Amino acid sequence: MTLAEAHLPIADTVADDAPIFDPASWNLTDQQADLSARARSLGQTVFADRAARYDRDATFPTENYRDLHTSGMLGICIPKENGGLGADLKTYMLAASEIGRYCGATALTFNMHVSSCLWTGFLADGLKMDAATQAEHEAMRQRHYARILDQGAIYAQPFSEGGAAAAGAKAFGTTALRTDEGWRINGKKIFASLSGHADYYGALCTELDHPDAEPSRRNTMYIAVPADTKGVSVVGDWDPLGMRGTVSRTLLFDNVLVPYEEQLMPRGIYFSAAKRWPHMFMTLTPSYMGIAQAAYDFTVRYLRGEMPGTPPVKRRMYPTKQLAVAQMRLMLEQTKSLWFQSISEARPDPDKEQLLRAWCAQYTVMENANEIAQLAIRTCGGQSMLKSLHLERLYRDSRCGSLMLPWTAELCMDMIGKGTLYEAGESDDA
Ligand SMILES: Cc1cc2nc3c(=O)[nH]c(=O)nc-3n(C[C@H](O)[C@H](O)[C@H](O)COP(=O)(O)OP(=O)(O)OC[C@H]3O[C@@H](n4cnc5c(N)ncnc54)[C@H](O)[C@@H]3O)c2cc1C
Repeated sequence: MTLAEAHLPIADTVADDAPIFDPASWNLTDQQADLSARARSLGQTVFADRAARYDRDATFPTENYRDLHTSGMLGICIPKENGGLGADLKTYMLAASEIGRYCGATALTFNMHVSSCLWTGFLADGLKMDAATQAEHEAMRQRHYARILDQGAIYAQPFSEGGAAAAGAKAFGTTALRTDEGWRINGKKIFASLSGHADYYGALCTELDHPDAEPSRRNTMYIAVPADTKGVSVVGDWDPLGMRGTVSRTLLFDNVLVPYEEQLMPRGIYFSAAKRWPHMFMTLTPSYMGIAQAAYDFTVRYLRGEMPGTPPVKRRMYPTKQLAVAQMRLMLEQTKSLWFQSISEARPDPDKEQLLRAWCAQYTVMENANEIAQLAIRTCGGQSMLKSLHLERLYRDSRCGSLMLPWTAELCMDMIGKGTLYEAGESDDA
């Protein structure tokens, strides 16, 4: 058989994929089932075909964002009273995992955008604010939501700076100085997904009331910097192993003047939300939950000889391949169950067990996605890793999950071990 023959499609159309989380089995609400179905349909019918190009060229999935806007999904976490779809954290996570199944880079960048609405919407609404702060917050968020819903504005979420700040251990080095004209922002953000493509950078920075003030994490501010403001620049190239369509280049803020109204949250609210809502940091996982499912789906179709773009050769009769699929299924079921439990118990001020489980779920999704993808390649065999198929992209994209702060796989291990052996305030000092 020639290579050309080997890549003839065996079917023009593929049946609709089953949900990752079947609504009846997992007891989903109507809204969860509906938004997951919308995301899956968009992913399977539109995003899947475009994903190879974004990956090959390391370009931003602009067309996908137009579709996300048209379908209303850009406002998935904007509260209903403000005109959005009103998804809570769990509902968003379930829907986003369906996007990750078809285009990891779209799901990961979508998370950065959606975070701006989750932090200001569902999460902030779970915290008590005095009436004046609440009113201030409402006016602020309405401005951002209107841009997203009416104009399709996209928000990025640059917090990483290459040091301990993104790990939650230090104040952000990017500073926002209060001046008579507004915020004067200076700093550098690395791995700023959507750089050059977002309309607003939802930058985390440390408020200073005078230039020599001592930076403190308590003074973290969350400010939307319009991308076209003087002093904002995107530098460096972007040619990474995986998640190439995220275009996560370096962002520089050089004396950028931003009006006060661009704040995303009133003073002090981000710091409080970050402390009280730790599950928020799990929002990086749905992309990888989707990738784990996609690598498994690929393997089943491929071994059954049903993978479009490959010859109809069955490989399922070999016991070693059956064993590998069993191993993948076990890992996938374990990953799904732990993740589902953890996102189901997301709440402000979770107890210690819930927090430990969140770290376990984060670690499990990020590491298992990669493990499942590598098993898929080993099991399907040489032809399965050709660039003409999407498995090798899933493999490369899956490797990125464990690297993402503040809950990298390593930091999860640190926190799980320490958190299990010590109660709050305990030490071994005599
Ligand atoms: C595809 C992709 C997209 C991304 N998109 C975004 C984005 O949109 N916005 C964003 O803000 N970031 C984004 N990131 C960045 C990501 O969250 C991390 O900040 C980044 O990968 C860290 O890179 P690093 O080389 O500085 O990591 P590391 O060197 O691992 O960590 C940086 C610092 O964290 C601390 N640290 C790390 N590990 C430990 C440990 N075990 N114990 C104690 N301290 C530790 C140390 O201070 C260390 O210097 C993205 C990353 C990837 C791969």
